Parts: sequence; structure tokens; C-alpha cells
Amino acid sequence: MASVTDRPADGSPPARTALRWDYAPAPESRDAAPLKPRYDLFVDGAFTAPQDGSVVASVNPASEEVLAEVGFAGPGDVERAVAAARRAAGPWAALPALERGKYLFRIARLIQERARELAIVESLDGGKPIRESRDVDIPLAAAHFFSYAGWADKLSYAVAGRPHRPRGVVGQVVPWNFPLLMAAWKLAPALACGNTAVLKPAETTPLTALLLAEICQEAELPPGVINVIPGAGETGAALVRAEVDKVAFTGSTAVGKEIQRALAGRDIGLTLELGGKSANIVFEDAAIDQAVEGIVNGIFFNQGHVCCAGSRLLLQESVADEVLHKLWQRMQRLRVGDPLDKNTDVGAINSAAQLARIEELVAAGEAEGATRRTISCALPEQGYWFAPTLFTDVAPANRIAVEEIFGPVVSVTTFRTPAEAIERANNSAYGLAAGVWTDMGSKAFEVASALRAGVVWQNTYNKFDPTAAFGGYKESGFGREGGPSGLLPYLKVGA
Ligand code: NAD
Repeated sequence: MASVTDRPADGSPPARTALRWDYAPAPESRDAAPLKPRYDLFVDGAFTAPQDGSVVASVNPASEEVLAEVGFAGPGDVERAVAAARRAAGPWAALPALERGKYLFRIARLIQERARELAIVESLDGGKPIRESRDVDIPLAAAHFFSYAGWADKLSYAVAGRPHRPRGVVGQVVPWNFPLLMAAWKLAPALACGNTAVLKPAETTPLTALLLAEICQEAELPPGVINVIPGAGETGAALVRAEVDKVAFTGSTAVGKEIQRALAGRDIGLTLELGGKSANIVFEDAAIDQAVEGIVNGIFFNQGHVCCAGSRLLLQESVADEVLHKLWQRMQRLRVGDPLDKNTDVGAINSAAQLARIEELVAAGEAEGATRRTISCALPEQGYWFAPTLFTDVAPANRIAVEEIFGPVVSVTTFRTPAEAIERANNSAYGLAAGVWTDMGSKAFEVASALRAGVVWQNTYNKFDPTAAFGGYKESGFGREGGPSGLLPYLKVGA
């Protein structure tokens, strides 16, 4: 909405500087997503109270308001869920593949039908802007179920005609940054391959996984094929140590290492999708305005709570000043605030613990001598917030250049030659993703093939597609999710 101030008394048009552009509030209605006061575990096709677990409040990080009480699974509940999945495994694997595909298709359709409700709950529970939940998380979750519905009866194409069978019961643990989408990444390929699953959502964002459980009931999915057991780290630890045939984990590198140690010596399939510190590289021949949009999308999308966030910005020296100037201008126009407002660009930080981690690393950046710029904007009094931040004068060994911040904070360094850019980008314990911005196709391909990163985006960033494989190198983990490669971890091939 434009408002004109200081109109000259003689009626002439106002000076350009006197034009002020404001946005009217555009809140999504909470009425479209009525929450129940309490949600329980989903085991064997029914919602049941925890037998040896607890009941914990799920909180809106934008307001600290309690959204609902949620049952958290104890060790006995984990065993119950795994036993239900075990009972369901034989009949599910024996179903004609086309029938399995139909269930996945139904789930996808029901996600679409309940898309508005799911988007609102995702934003309430996790703090992400409704624009992202509505346009990215929920449509992509449905797309994963659609895509793997189509794969269910075509598995032999994914394994080059070799004999294959499902692994059995899979234990799946997901993080809080894309709660429903991560659940879809894991459940859809597992079920398409004929496995049954026990899913543990993250402790701060269990609600959309429980709505997905309602959708499984609506789709008349046979009991036990999908079980959802909310809980904290100890529930996840109990699940990966239970009698499962495969573990799929998305989360931090520290917990991934712990899981790998716990599973040592067991003949069990393991996929780890872990952290990242991805390089976004801008060459002097790039379309600068487009690159600036890509930088903003790369690091401020979902408050930077993105495993593949472009958190290390590498600028070619000759354009560094120009890019930084334009980036800073653009950052100051980012709208931080109510996640349910359709105009919000940057929502709430997911939890008090995550906010403390971001603050600690930002303080370390300042203490190590980097120059900090944080946009000036009014932040709500309640809830957890961190304004978009840019660090320059960053040394490659600084903690902010090495450690995953998982927040809206970008660290900038410069380079002179493509070889230096590649060396700097690869100088990381992680290898999840990268971005390359250049007008020259040959340079883009040469640099991309030299980068040790699972995904390299060219002249774009943070683009996801259910038909494309996603996964890391080095401490970003192993195994791929998405596309035909995402089926392989859920099959025993050649046996
Ligand atoms: P986290 O590792 O603390 O938690 C992830 C999940 O693991 C949660 O459900 C948690 O309850 C559970 N968990 C915690 N301790 C456990 C244990 N000992 N055994 C089993 N499960 C346990 O990570 P987080 O802070 O929730 O998520 C952020 C991390 O996830 C970041 O490092 C991010 O990069 C990573 N991530 C990676 C990808 C990817 O695809 N590579 C995607 C999203 C997030």
C-alpha cells in the first residue's frame, strides 16, 4: 500500500523521497487449521497415549504460546511401534506394487486437499513464513508422494533389472526445519519399495507429522505401515537401536556420528543426511542482480534453517564491492516478523536453544575480528527472533566460516581466480551443496565438477525436485534421497 506524505501545498506531485511504501497486514487465518488440544502417538493405525513416555507442549516459536499437548514415546512405546511395523511388513511387501502405489497416490492427494491447513500448522509449529510453507514445503511433500507412487511398480528400472526386495522395517528420524517435507522424503520411497516405517519427528515440530498420520487413516493405509512416534533425542536413540532393518536419519553431524557408532557391527542399512556449510560462489561475469536474489534466497530462506543454506558467500574480488552494496540494500528490505503474514520474508527462529546457538556463533564472529552488519528492524517482543546478518572481513579459519550456524547469517570472503574459489569452497569438513553464478557455461560446468558437494546449483539456489537426488559428501553424510537413487537405500539389491 503506498501512502503519500508531505504533499507540497501548491498541489504539485510530491518529491520522490516523500513517497512511503507500507504493507498492509496480510495474515493467513488460523481458523482454517483448528488444532486439537492433544495429539497422541500413531501406532498400528490408531492414536494411542504413550504407555511409558510423557506429554509435552508444542510451542509456537513466534509467540511462545502453547499450540497443543503432544504424547512423547518412551522406550516401550518405541518397541510397540516397531512391533506394529514388523507385523505389517509381510502383508505390505506382498501387496501388488501397483496397489502400494495407489495408497501413496491417495496420500499425495489428501496432502493437497489439506494443503492450506498443513501450511498453517507448519508455520505455527516451526516459525517459518507461510509463503514458504504454502509454496514450498507442502507442495513438495505432495510431489514426493506422487513421484514415488509412480515408482512403486517400476522398481526394477531403478535397480537395472537386478533382483531386489524390501529391507523390512525402517526407523526414520527427522529434524525440525522442514518437518512434513523431511517426513515425505523418507516415508514415500520407503513405502514404495515395500517397507513399513516408524517415523520420529523432531521434538519442537511434531504436529504436521501427526496430521500426516490422520491422512494415513483417511487413505485407509493398512495399520502399522506408517507409525509416528514424537519424542526427543532419547526416543530417536531408542528407535535406531531397536529391531529395525534400516535407519534413515536427517539431522546434525554430531548425532549422525553417534548413530553410526551405535549401529557399528549390525547388518543394517544406514542413510545419513547431515549438516552443511555450503559455498555460494559469485564470479565477476555473473548477472549481479540475479545473483543477489540468489544469495538472499540461499541464506535467508527459512531463516537459514536449511542444511544446504549458502552460508559461505565467496565473491570474486573485482565485483565484491558491487555485490555487497546491492546485497545490503536488498537485505534491508527483508520483512521479518509474523510467520502467518503472507508478506513476511523471514520468520521466527525455531526454538530458544537454536537462537542461543546462533547468538553464540555470531558473538564468536565478532570476537574473532569479523565485521558484522545486522539489518535494523523491529522484532516482536515475544518469541525467538534473529535479524538477517552479514559478516565481512572473515578469515577462513573463523568459526563463522567453518561451523554450521543454521540461522540467517552469511559469512563473506573473496577470491581472485576460479582455482582459488574451488579451493576455498572445498576447504570444509562438509560437502552438501554449492551455488555457482556465472554467465559462462563452460566455467559453470568446470567449477561444478571440481566441487565436492552433493548438489551444485548453477545461477539459482535452493531448488528442490522430487525427481532429483539430494545428499552429501564428507561430514554431510551419505546415501541419496529423491529420484530413483532415493529408492536404493530402501532395497536389498541382488539378494
Ligand atoms: P539434531 O541432530 O539435533 O536432531 C535431529 C533429529 O534427531 C531430531 O528428531 C532429534 O530429536 C533426533 N535426535 C537427537 N539426538 C538423537 C540421538 N542420539 N539418536 C537419534 N536421534 C536423535 O539436529 P537438529 O538440530 O534438529 O537439525 C538441524 C540439523 O539437521 C542441521 O545440522 C542440519 O544441517 C541438518 N539437516 C540436514 C539435512 C540434509 O538433508 N542433509 C536436512 C535438514 C537438516
